[in-house]
Amino acid sequence: MPLGISTTKWLHCFCGAGSGEPLRNYYYTILSKICQAIFNKKIKKFFSQNSKKYLTTVLVYGIIRVQKERTVKNKMEKTINLFVDMDGTLAKFYYKKNCLEKMYEQGYFENLPLYAIAKKIDRLAKEDTCVQIFVLSACIKSDYCESEKIAWLLKCMPNINPKNFIFTKVGESKVKKVLETVDNVDNTINLLLDDYTKNLEDWEKHENFIGLKFINGLNDTTKSWKGIKIKSYKQLLELLKKLAMYGKIN
Ligand SMILES: [Mg+2]
Repeated sequence: MPLGISTTKWLHCFCGAGSGEPLRNYYYTILSKICQAIFNKKIKKFFSQNSKKYLTTVLVYGIIRVQKERTVKNKMEKTINLFVDMDGTLAKFYYKKNCLEKMYEQGYFENLPLYAIAKKIDRLAKEDTCVQIFVLSACIKSDYCESEKIAWLLKCMPNINPKNFIFTKVGESKVKKVLETVDNVDNTINLLLDDYTKNLEDWEKHENFIGLKFINGLNDTTKSWKGIKIKSYKQLLELLKKLAMYGKIN
């Protein structure tokens, strides 16, 4: 072991007791490389009384950084952004009589029932795929709407990163909000799953932005949307697979 420093101490600093063998081997390889680099540069003289502590810090942070880079590198590149609407898509908005009045009351948004597709989309968010999932939802002017929607998402969609929750005002363009707030949309296919045709038409005015109308059993009575319609998670998954494989739908 370089420098005669306790092996156990190094190991526990980095990965704690009980870590697996591959990680240990990786740790020792990196550790010895760093030690060699330090001594080749003849900087040994700078290490005095606190040398062990100092060197521990340098090495441990160095290894953690390397480990992090390795983890990021191994993750699937996100080539598809899936933006999902809440009311009428993830959540059943019309679950009470007079909902257009009731929605201003405390507890209305926090207690929205889920569509079956919601849990499956949440499970997809947990997996390492090329799809990054966002929630893109409009909030009415009320004291409760936005905070209750956040609470609902944290409870019902725990695998979606809260930094991917995007809220607009009612009537505000969803696509405009995404262009203002999300990085790298030009290099990504951007899907919007939404039950409202107007949002989808606005969305498709931009290149690489594809609208998917969610058919929830209440909408689509006028058949106004001429683009892609999604009735089930199975359909959505098939479409995502096609996009991931060929970069296009047809
Ligand atoms: Mg909606």
